[in-house]
Amino acid sequence: MPEEMGPPVPDSLDKIAQEVGRCVACGLHQGRTRAVPGEGPLHARLMVVGEGPGQQEDEAGRPFVGRAGQLLTDMLRAIHLERHEVFIANVVKCRPPENRNPTPAEAEACAPFLARQIALVDPEVVLVLGRTAAEALMGPGVRISAIRGVWTTLGHRALMPTYHPAYLLRDPRKKVETWEDLKRVAQRLSIQV
Ligand code: SF4
Repeated sequence: MPEEMGPPVPDSLDKIAQEVGRCVACGLHQGRTRAVPGEGPLHARLMVVGEGPGQQEDEAGRPFVGRAGQLLTDMLRAIHLERHEVFIANVVKCRPPENRNPTPAEAEACAPFLARQIALVDPEVVLVLGRTAAEALMGPGVRISAIRGVWTTLGHRALMPTYHPAYLLRDPRKKVETWEDLKRVAQRLSIQV
Protein backbone atom coordinates (compact mmCIF):
# COMPACT_ATOMS: atom_id res chain seq x y z
CA MET A 1 0.00 0.00 0.00
CA PRO A 2 1.45 3.45 -0.87
CA GLU A 3 2.49 5.26 2.31
CA GLU A 4 0.39 8.37 1.56
CA MET A 5 -2.79 6.29 1.67
CA GLY A 6 -2.25 5.50 5.36
CA PRO A 7 -4.07 2.79 7.32
CA PRO A 8 -7.72 2.11 6.47
CA VAL A 9 -10.16 4.35 8.37
CA PRO A 10 -12.56 2.30 10.52
CA ASP A 11 -16.20 2.64 9.65
CA SER A 12 -18.26 5.10 11.68
CA LEU A 13 -21.64 6.81 11.54
CA ASP A 14 -19.91 10.09 10.69
CA LYS A 15 -18.02 8.44 7.83
CA ILE A 16 -21.26 7.02 6.46
CA ALA A 17 -22.96 10.44 6.73
CA GLN A 18 -20.11 12.07 4.82
CA GLU A 19 -20.25 9.44 2.10
CA VAL A 20 -24.03 9.82 1.84
CA GLY A 21 -23.59 13.57 1.40
CA ARG A 22 -21.32 13.00 -1.61
CA CYS A 23 -23.14 9.98 -3.03
CA VAL A 24 -24.25 9.94 -6.68
CA ALA A 25 -24.93 6.21 -6.88
CA CYS A 26 -28.52 6.69 -8.04
CA GLY A 27 -30.55 9.39 -9.73
CA LEU A 28 -32.09 10.64 -6.48
CA HIS A 29 -29.00 12.73 -5.79
CA GLN A 30 -30.07 15.09 -8.60
CA GLY A 31 -33.14 16.36 -6.77
CA ARG A 32 -31.88 16.51 -3.21
CA THR A 33 -31.42 19.72 -1.25
CA ARG A 34 -29.68 17.84 1.52
CA ALA A 35 -29.03 14.16 1.92
CA VAL A 36 -30.59 12.61 5.02
CA PRO A 37 -28.24 9.94 6.33
CA GLY A 38 -30.14 9.34 9.58
CA GLU A 39 -29.35 10.18 13.17
CA GLY A 40 -29.09 8.74 16.62
CA PRO A 41 -26.62 7.25 19.05
CA LEU A 42 -24.17 4.49 18.33
CA HIS A 43 -25.41 1.32 20.06
CA ALA A 44 -29.02 2.51 20.34
CA ARG A 45 -31.15 -0.40 21.56
CA LEU A 46 -33.86 0.45 19.03
CA MET A 47 -33.40 1.41 15.39
CA VAL A 48 -36.25 2.74 13.28
CA VAL A 49 -36.15 2.33 9.51
CA GLY A 50 -38.52 4.27 7.29
CA GLU A 51 -38.81 4.78 3.56
CA GLY A 52 -37.05 7.98 2.55
CA PRO A 53 -36.95 11.74 3.11
CA GLY A 54 -39.93 13.94 2.29
CA GLN A 55 -39.82 17.65 1.54
CA GLN A 56 -39.22 18.81 5.10
CA GLU A 57 -36.59 16.17 5.73
CA ASP A 58 -34.86 17.09 2.48
CA GLU A 59 -34.72 20.74 3.59
CA ALA A 60 -33.61 19.95 7.14
CA GLY A 61 -31.20 17.12 6.35
CA ARG A 62 -32.81 15.16 9.19
CA PRO A 63 -35.17 12.17 9.15
CA PHE A 64 -38.81 12.29 10.26
CA VAL A 65 -39.21 16.01 10.99
CA GLY A 66 -42.63 16.62 9.41
CA ARG A 67 -46.07 15.56 10.64
CA ALA A 68 -45.18 11.90 10.30
CA GLY A 69 -42.06 12.63 12.28
CA GLN A 70 -44.07 14.18 15.09
CA LEU A 71 -46.26 11.10 15.14
CA LEU A 72 -43.16 8.89 15.26
CA THR A 73 -41.90 10.95 18.22
CA ASP A 74 -45.26 10.41 19.94
CA MET A 75 -45.14 6.68 19.17
CA LEU A 76 -41.69 6.38 20.71
CA ARG A 77 -42.74 8.37 23.78
CA ALA A 78 -45.67 6.03 24.23
CA ILE A 79 -43.11 3.31 24.94
CA HIS A 80 -41.01 5.67 27.06
CA LEU A 81 -38.29 6.34 24.51
CA GLU A 82 -37.09 9.77 23.40
CA ARG A 83 -35.90 10.31 19.86
CA HIS A 84 -32.34 10.97 20.97
CA GLU A 85 -32.21 7.44 22.38
CA VAL A 86 -33.18 5.82 19.07
CA PHE A 87 -31.32 5.59 15.76
CA ILE A 88 -33.63 6.76 12.98
CA ALA A 89 -32.83 5.99 9.35
CA ASN A 90 -34.45 5.45 5.99
CA VAL A 91 -34.02 3.02 3.13
CA VAL A 92 -33.01 5.81 0.74
CA LYS A 93 -31.10 8.84 1.91
CA CYS A 94 -32.23 11.29 -0.76
CA ARG A 95 -35.76 12.50 -1.44
CA PRO A 96 -37.67 10.80 -4.24
CA PRO A 97 -39.41 13.39 -6.44
CA GLU A 98 -43.07 14.12 -5.62
CA ASN A 99 -42.66 11.85 -2.58
CA ARG A 100 -43.03 8.76 -4.76
CA ASN A 101 -41.84 5.42 -3.45
CA PRO A 102 -38.17 4.66 -4.14
CA THR A 103 -37.70 2.24 -7.01
CA PRO A 104 -36.13 -1.16 -6.27
CA ALA A 105 -32.99 0.00 -8.09
CA GLU A 106 -32.74 3.12 -5.91
CA ALA A 107 -33.29 1.10 -2.74
CA GLU A 108 -30.65 -1.37 -3.85
CA ALA A 109 -28.15 1.37 -4.65
CA CYS A 110 -28.62 2.85 -1.18
CA ALA A 111 -28.77 -0.46 0.72
CA PRO A 112 -25.07 -0.63 1.66
CA PHE A 113 -25.41 2.57 3.74
CA LEU A 114 -28.30 1.16 5.77
CA ALA A 115 -26.52 -2.18 6.16
CA ARG A 116 -23.44 -0.41 7.54
CA GLN A 117 -25.58 1.66 9.93
CA ILE A 118 -27.30 -1.45 11.23
CA ALA A 119 -23.95 -3.20 11.67
CA LEU A 120 -22.46 -0.26 13.59
CA VAL A 121 -25.47 0.56 15.76
CA ASP A 122 -26.16 -3.14 16.30
CA PRO A 123 -29.63 -2.57 17.78
CA GLU A 124 -31.51 -5.22 19.70
CA VAL A 125 -34.69 -4.38 17.79
CA VAL A 126 -35.36 -2.81 14.40
CA LEU A 127 -38.79 -1.22 14.00
CA VAL A 128 -39.60 -1.48 10.30
CA LEU A 129 -41.99 1.24 9.14
CA GLY A 130 -44.03 0.46 6.05
CA ARG A 131 -43.71 -1.65 2.95
CA THR A 132 -40.61 -0.09 1.41
CA ALA A 133 -38.58 -0.66 4.57
CA ALA A 134 -40.02 -4.15 4.97
CA GLU A 135 -39.10 -5.06 1.40
CA ALA A 136 -35.59 -3.67 1.85
CA LEU A 137 -34.96 -5.71 5.00
CA MET A 138 -37.15 -8.77 4.48
CA GLY A 139 -37.36 -9.26 0.73
CA PRO A 140 -39.57 -8.18 -2.16
CA GLY A 141 -43.29 -8.71 -2.32
CA VAL A 142 -44.18 -8.43 1.37
CA ARG A 143 -47.49 -6.85 2.35
CA ILE A 144 -47.23 -4.82 5.52
CA SER A 145 -50.80 -5.60 6.54
CA ALA A 146 -49.95 -9.31 6.41
CA ILE A 147 -46.62 -9.21 8.25
CA ARG A 148 -47.04 -6.42 10.79
CA GLY A 149 -46.94 -7.46 14.40
CA VAL A 150 -44.99 -10.64 13.69
CA TRP A 151 -41.42 -10.88 14.88
CA THR A 152 -38.78 -11.85 12.37
CA THR A 153 -35.00 -11.67 12.44
CA LEU A 154 -32.14 -9.96 10.67
CA GLY A 155 -29.03 -11.79 11.80
CA HIS A 156 -29.23 -11.80 15.58
CA ARG A 157 -31.51 -8.74 15.65
CA ALA A 158 -35.26 -8.80 16.10
CA LEU A 159 -37.37 -7.07 13.45
CA MET A 160 -40.87 -5.76 14.10
CA PRO A 161 -42.72 -4.56 10.99
CA THR A 162 -45.54 -2.09 11.45
CA TYR A 163 -47.33 0.70 9.64
CA HIS A 164 -45.51 3.86 8.56
CA PRO A 165 -46.58 6.99 10.49
CA ALA A 166 -47.46 8.72 7.20
CA TYR A 167 -49.96 5.93 6.54
CA LEU A 168 -51.35 6.30 10.06
CA LEU A 169 -52.00 9.98 9.33
CA ARG A 170 -54.10 8.90 6.35
CA ASP A 171 -55.84 6.06 8.19
CA PRO A 172 -55.82 6.71 11.97
CA ARG A 173 -57.82 3.53 12.59
CA LYS A 174 -54.58 1.59 12.06
CA LYS A 175 -53.12 3.19 15.18
CA VAL A 176 -54.78 0.50 17.27
CA GLU A 177 -52.77 -2.26 15.59
CA THR A 178 -49.63 -0.15 15.61
CA TRP A 179 -49.92 0.34 19.34
CA GLU A 180 -50.03 -3.44 19.75
CA ASP A 181 -46.81 -3.67 17.72
CA LEU A 182 -45.16 -0.96 19.80
CA LYS A 183 -46.07 -2.81 22.97
CA ARG A 184 -44.34 -5.91 21.55
CA VAL A 185 -41.22 -3.80 20.98
CA ALA A 186 -41.38 -2.40 24.51
CA GLN A 187 -41.73 -5.89 25.96
CA ARG A 188 -38.73 -7.10 23.96
CA LEU A 189 -36.69 -4.20 25.34
CA SER A 190 -37.97 -4.84 28.89
CA ILE A 191 -39.72 -1.46 28.97
CA GLN A 192 -42.87 -1.34 31.08
CA VAL A 193 -45.76 0.46 29.35
S1 SF4 B 1 -30.50 7.77 -2.45
FE1 SF4 B 1 -28.73 6.69 -1.57
S2 SF4 B 1 -27.72 5.71 -3.34
FE2 SF4 B 1 -29.09 7.29 -4.16
S3 SF4 B 1 -27.79 9.12 -4.35
FE3 SF4 B 1 -28.80 9.25 -2.35
S4 SF4 B 1 -27.34 8.32 -0.91
FE4 SF4 B 1 -26.70 7.69 -2.98
